[in-house]
Amino acid sequence: MIRLEELTKTYGKFVAVDAIDLHVPRGQIFGFLGPNGAGKTTTLRMIAGILRPTHGRIWLGGDDILSNPMAAKARLGFIPDRPFVYEKLTGAEFLRFVAGLYGHDGSAVERRINELFELFELSVWKNELVESYSHGMRQKLIISSALIHRPECIVVDEPMVGLDPKGARLLKDIFRAFVEKGGTVLMSTHTLEVAQAMCDRIAIIQEGRIVARGTIEELRKQTAAGDASLEELFLRLTGGSDVQELAAVLSD
Ligand code: ATP
Repeated sequence: MIRLEELTKTYGKFVAVDAIDLHVPRGQIFGFLGPNGAGKTTTLRMIAGILRPTHGRIWLGGDDILSNPMAAKARLGFIPDRPFVYEKLTGAEFLRFVAGLYGHDGSAVERRINELFELFELSVWKNELVESYSHGMRQKLIISSALIHRPECIVVDEPMVGLDPKGARLLKDIFRAFVEKGGTVLMSTHTLEVAQAMCDRIAIIQEGRIVARGTIEELRKQTAAGDASLEELFLRLTGGSDVQELAAVLSD
């Protein structure tokens, strides 16, 4: 379970995230959908405990990330949009290192590493240096590192970027299996297509505020019922208006 109460982040006078309230229960893949600069990454980084909120509270399961950060972070696997990997470690060494950060070691970690490498079809790369991994392989390693300590919640920023169709399908299946076992996934995306393919419910975020929430179907109905601002947003999120504008410019 992930709960946000009046979550706010300001930079000087600029409000990047504006009093967001959100409850994502166990068993759901929840999507944060919004255009560039909407405040998605800022929100996810606050949930991960990397960025301090200006105001508001964040609960992961029963733990408040601000007052009980170690316990809250133990419940969370975070996959950032620009992940960092140590090039001079092998894949297995990298996962062992991350497991150690969470206080896990020994044979249980070795079993988990083998399980994750098999799942992502990376077993033959296990003892190769990360610098020799392709972009998609690094992405799979990062996802493995977020799962190494068996978290209850996964927070992931733009999960599909860099994955080939097979990798994308695998990730979708992994997230689905994860929530079916009682986990919680909160992911961000700027495309409606990804949200539709993966999420049970979504919130549309614009200029730091949640402007609509529900299932894609519910939001489509609101749009069809004449919510012009939502229709405009949907067009932008599917690339509609940009593509039209671009075509107009190019045909001049
Ligand atoms: P994208 O889809 O492009 O990644 P996003 O929805 O993740 O966008 P954020 O990265 O959360 O957007 O940024 C939200 C707003 O906050 C943007 O206008 C950004 O310029 C601003 N912002 C983010 N970090 C800082 C910072 N350190 N200082 C000042 N402004 C910032």
